[in-house]
Amino acid sequence: MTPSAVFAIPFNRPFMTGKEISYIAEAHALGNLAGDGPFTDRCQTLLRSHTGVMQVLLTHSCTAALEMAALLLELQPGDEVIMPSYTFVSTANAFALRGAIPVFVDIRPDTLNIDEQLVEDAITARTRAIVVVHYAGVACEMDTLLALANQYGLVVIEDAAQGVMSSYKGRALGALGQLGAYSFHETKNIISGEGGALLVNRDDFRLQAEIIREKGTDRSRFFRGEVDKYTWQSIGSSFLPSELTAAFLCAQLEEAANLTARRVDLWNNYHALLVRLEEAGFLRRPIIPTGCVHNGHMYYVILDRKVSRQRVLHSLKTAGIHAVFHYVPLHSAPAAQKLGRQQGQLNVTDDLASRLVRLPMWIGLTSEQQGRVVDALSSAIAAEGA
Ligand SMILES: *Cc1c(COP(=O)(O)O)cnc(C)c1O
Repeated sequence: MTPSAVFAIPFNRPFMTGKEISYIAEAHALGNLAGDGPFTDRCQTLLRSHTGVMQVLLTHSCTAALEMAALLLELQPGDEVIMPSYTFVSTANAFALRGAIPVFVDIRPDTLNIDEQLVEDAITARTRAIVVVHYAGVACEMDTLLALANQYGLVVIEDAAQGVMSSYKGRALGALGQLGAYSFHETKNIISGEGGALLVNRDDFRLQAEIIREKGTDRSRFFRGEVDKYTWQSIGSSFLPSELTAAFLCAQLEEAANLTARRVDLWNNYHALLVRLEEAGFLRRPIIPTGCVHNGHMYYVILDRKVSRQRVLHSLKTAGIHAVFHYVPLHSAPAAQKLGRQQGQLNVTDDLASRLVRLPMWIGLTSEQQGRVVDALSSAIAAEGA
């Protein structure tokens, strides 16, 4: 990626609340640096009360949380996991690591989320789970997906990496399926550099989730005084973040509502500024279905077919604005040939992925800068002769 310093308006700029350093200093003073100390506890408590799930376990990334989900399901080679192709690699890789086969389904044209109407046809005798991805922090059509999963005895895992502080019909994303995964990567809304969380919403996963996260041991029970020594119980790994990371995250989580509101303001401002380009038929703006409250994670536009994305991105770059495209659909990536399969034609995925442009979005972006982004986008489109 081009270093953001060369852009007058970078694509992303991590926002710090101001308390991160003092919380890290507190952890430093306590001398409790490994995982599962007081800051981890505070973060988990905040996330539990916000989401209402039974258990939250901090991890060192959303990728780690997804890998834990795959381990919890005890997936066997050849088991199938249904997911969109329009997603980040970790959604598929976490399951492929266990020998499971990612089965890619097309997305909806409005939200770019998995098309719930196409999922049933992808179900086979080997299907174990549906992994839904809430793109841009906007919820998938969960009622339909949960009903389908229930009917076929499948587990629903939410890749809610982008969905922290978003909701669907009043319920937090990540808390709707049996398992949910959050990301606190620097590019997300609530950050700790690298970081994530696994949300557990099924009672019989709770103990095993702790074991998997603690190198396959019952160390968490030992710390609670429930056993007098801890031993190797099953396969597992080290998925917990250090207290330094948790201290940073704690400062962010305490401000989560405020950070979200500020991003949503930015999102709404772009949305208003882009009405005219949409009306003129040059692009379409994001669509938020009723019942979905989003977190302002991302502002994207879908360019009309007559506009060249490559040239638009280049013009923006020349104007000092860093706009980017997003996922290369997984079904078209080299690893998918070996590891996955696709369900039918993924025409919506191929089409929208090739026309999507993400605009700069970070707390601190001014409305004047947003105006410049939209003006530069208008000029770039006009230069297309579109
Ligand atoms: C960012 C992201 C991830 C990976 O998150 P990490 O915390 O970097 O592991 C996974 N899935 C989606 C949809 C993401 O946006």
